Amino acid sequence: MRNIYGIKRKDLEDYFISKGEKKYKALQVFEWLYQKKVRKYSEMTNIKKDLQEVISNDFDNKFITVVMKQEDKLTKKYLFKLEDDNYIEAVLMEHNYGLSICVSSEVGCNMGCAFCESGRLKKVRNLETHEMVEQILLVEDDIKKRISSVVIMGIGEPLDNYDNVLDFIKIINDAKGLAIGARHITLSTCGLIPKIVELSNEELQINLAVSLHAPNTQLRDKLMPINRAYKLKDLIQTIKEYTEKTNRRVTIEYVMLDGVNDNETQALELAKLLKGMNVYVNLIPYNETSHMEFKKSKPENLKKFYDILIKQGLTATTRKEFGSNIDAACGQLRSKEVES
Ligand code: SAH
Repeated sequence: MRNIYGIKRKDLEDYFISKGEKKYKALQVFEWLYQKKVRKYSEMTNIKKDLQEVISNDFDNKFITVVMKQEDKLTKKYLFKLEDDNYIEAVLMEHNYGLSICVSSEVGCNMGCAFCESGRLKKVRNLETHEMVEQILLVEDDIKKRISSVVIMGIGEPLDNYDNVLDFIKIINDAKGLAIGARHITLSTCGLIPKIVELSNEELQINLAVSLHAPNTQLRDKLMPINRAYKLKDLIQTIKEYTEKTNRRVTIEYVMLDGVNDNETQALELAKLLKGMNVYVNLIPYNETSHMEFKKSKPENLKKFYDILIKQGLTATTRKEFGSNIDAACGQLRSKEVES
């Protein structure tokens, strides 16, 4: 049976029409689910009893469950258990502009980036749309506050679970759903070229972030196996076309790894690679994990790298560090649970 939290309003309208009902029933159900946050069909008082019955026969409304929470001042990390006993995680971050959540899109990940904890444990399966929506609902329920932005940067490669992720975006973006503005939704990918092209045709105003992490293809090959399938040169060309088509600036993510990709020559090389593109660079302090030998860049090297990019005319920021003391690096909490 399908879960109601994974159904777009348009699909729910079609469903009601197929049942001989008016399509505005979908809007009413959405208001109950996402605005009044009612979980039981029996509490949807403007839906007739017999229709409640019909809906409950066609859609279940089971939730994933929170099994652990860790927090520090600005970060809360949640470990969820799924119905089939798999685990995923989400991280809530408090910014000066509001609350943002980092959600997972898959159980595990097949991309195998050398420095990333999520990829150590291979992909088990895609997340269902409702399992992504429920991460947000459960965290909002826990903190009793509204979350205003969503980044799809948790465990998994979102473009490797394209259809479910797109449905997820449409549900949370729906004015009668969670009403999270498209410009407050960021999808991060390691660079699945055909899917980036597909995304550029969706006419969504979301933000795209691309994990680059290396200024040349030789180094990227070593850090990110995906580069063997989709080469840096082609990825750069795809990003150019994406920005032209969507008129949206793309974020280039660059995780700063000590002695690996953070020297001055590499900064110049990166600046040259990105020159003239409608992008900005987000330098990410590496979150060290016990399983990987990679270390975070020294602060003075990060500063030098940043200064070179700026001097070369790029726009760049350094990501604020969140949750390094609560295992908030991608996949850390899950891998602890799975391996314990
Ligand atoms: N698969 C997608 C989204 C999930 S990873 C992607 O690759 O973009 C989100 C971001 O966190 C990526 O840029 C990833 O390379 C980075 N990342 C992974 N492990 C990290 C760590 N330990 N510290 C900092 N960033 C990390």
